[in-house]
Amino acid sequence: MLLGKYSRQMLFQPVGAEGQQKLLASKTVIVGCGALGTAQANALVRAGVGVLRIIDRDYVEESNLQRQALFDEGDAAQRLPKAVAAERKLRAINSDVRVEGVVADLESRNAEDLLRGFDLILDGTDNFETRYLMNDAAVKLGIPWIYGAVVGSYGSTMTILPGKTACLRCVFPDPPQGPHESCDTAGVIGPAVAWVAAIQTAEAMKLLLGRTNELHQSLQSFDVWTNRLERIHPRLNPDCPACGQHDLAFLRQAVSHYARLCGRDAVQVRPPHPVKLDLEQLRRRLERLGSVRGNDFLLNCALDPYELTIFSDGRAIVKGTGDPAVARGVYAKYVGS
Ligand SMILES: [Zn+2]
Repeated sequence: MLLGKYSRQMLFQPVGAEGQQKLLASKTVIVGCGALGTAQANALVRAGVGVLRIIDRDYVEESNLQRQALFDEGDAAQRLPKAVAAERKLRAINSDVRVEGVVADLESRNAEDLLRGFDLILDGTDNFETRYLMNDAAVKLGIPWIYGAVVGSYGSTMTILPGKTACLRCVFPDPPQGPHESCDTAGVIGPAVAWVAAIQTAEAMKLLLGRTNELHQSLQSFDVWTNRLERIHPRLNPDCPACGQHDLAFLRQAVSHYARLCGRDAVQVRPPHPVKLDLEQLRRRLERLGSVRGNDFLLNCALDPYELTIFSDGRAIVKGTGDPAVARGVYAKYVGS
């Protein structure tokens, strides 16, 4: 392989030609391909990682374009799954990288299979349900992962080396309960996303190059609007339920059938058991009820006042409600129970 396209990066002493070969032999998985995930994927594909898997459960909408760097109006018009739209863009950016988009939701029943064998996991999610699951899976599989979160103009990130540095549950033993600020209430701006993704991808490069002494070794938070920077240095906690006691409750727990989607006035409904839907058959049925759009991966149907999007793995996103009971009703009526 010709390395000319990486010449500026190889001039940077900590990378060099040898480091570039390490990057090209490395495997990273990104969970969640929204604002953070697209920024991470863009940086790592340009840097020339070997393999990049992108797991995402959602499809592109117009309201994503303000901050989700890889998508355009055509993707939103087609309701393309984010994992698919990202894969297409990234392949055009750098054909050296094996990019694999996976249209799926990370759940307790598939997490280990989807993450096993990778050198690094990057957090591009927008919810704590998935992050706690990711933390358990990373501890079990012994894979480093890099937490990242953004709300409004504020972002935080922490790099976790299971068994060596504090994990998510060493710092926050339980997921936040009750109402907390999210993109739903506080919005989010692109520069805050860019800050978190920049720290995460710099840490990713250090890890993939084996330069772990140069990691920032803290929980860092920055507000790009007020310029307030905070750093704390969490300790590895021997009583931590996850990395201390190896009680991996989130990996064990049954799949919850509903999840509210951040900033979307929408609920995701998961089927009770894994299924493979015949989208063509379903399309014929739904066409009697409303206008149906679709692609190879999903069907999208306007059912006033709701919008129902059904993926071939049986998941559905019901837009127009934040109430799981309403979403369950819509799912049962149009897809089946
Ligand atoms: Zn821990």
